[in-house]
Amino acid sequence: MHDIMNSTRLPTLFVSHGAPTLILEDIPARSFLQSLGTRFPGIKGVLCISAHWNLEVPAVNAVEHPDTIHDFYGFPPSLYRLEYAARGSPALAGRVEGLLKDAGITCATDTARGLDHGAWVPLMLMFPEADVPVVQLSIERNLDPTRHLAMGAAIAKLRDEGILVMGSGGAVHPLGDPTASLGEGAPTEAWAEEFNDWLADAVIRGDRERLIGYRTLAPHAQRAHPYPDHYMPLLAALGAAGPGAKGTVIHHSWDLGDLGMDAYSFG
Ligand code: ZN
Repeated sequence: MHDIMNSTRLPTLFVSHGAPTLILEDIPARSFLQSLGTRFPGIKGVLCISAHWNLEVPAVNAVEHPDTIHDFYGFPPSLYRLEYAARGSPALAGRVEGLLKDAGITCATDTARGLDHGAWVPLMLMFPEADVPVVQLSIERNLDPTRHLAMGAAIAKLRDEGILVMGSGGAVHPLGDPTASLGEGAPTEAWAEEFNDWLADAVIRGDRERLIGYRTLAPHAQRAHPYPDHYMPLLAALGAAGPGAKGTVIHHSWDLGDLGMDAYSFG
């Protein structure tokens, strides 16, 4: 641990975790995540807001030794054998719950839940030594962009406390759209590029109005996010960067056709 982190304001992150096979395959998004972790020496913990924990009432997991949850189906057996040994942090979970409550946002505490693949897949690449404690905060079932921005804003102080706030979802995530081009060797379609470009522009400008109103403002928003659970962590990461924060595109690539793998930092 570096004491310098006590006085350093961290950025917040949004990463696209793609398919779970990301951790096995030599693709640009994988190399990017491997290098990303090295930018944050000495951090005290990660708070991951993953698309794969979706609850009516938001919750944090307060678990000393979180399990690795293999919450995916039909992938190679080797994926199911991977275990990520990072500790949890009931103290950080309590801090997050308190900050949310201070902002008038109800947050439950789950003392059993482990880490879903939206959290452990990118974190295993970023912090392979598993030496950074990880806490998860769920998204909210209503999938309301304004609400997720507010959830992020409520925990913005964590940036000054050595905690890396990381939303994990997907920049373009057309799962559920039967017409999407998805699979090994599939081409990336023009509409996906168009949505992705729109999104990157709004992120760079830190344009909260556009990012909140993306459903009506962005080209092909419905195709890019048929069920927008993978979009909500982006709003949370933006909110957690504080008022006026803008974004930077820190990674751009595609996987399996229309899966947008871009990552952003905010702050
Ligand atoms: Zn996912």
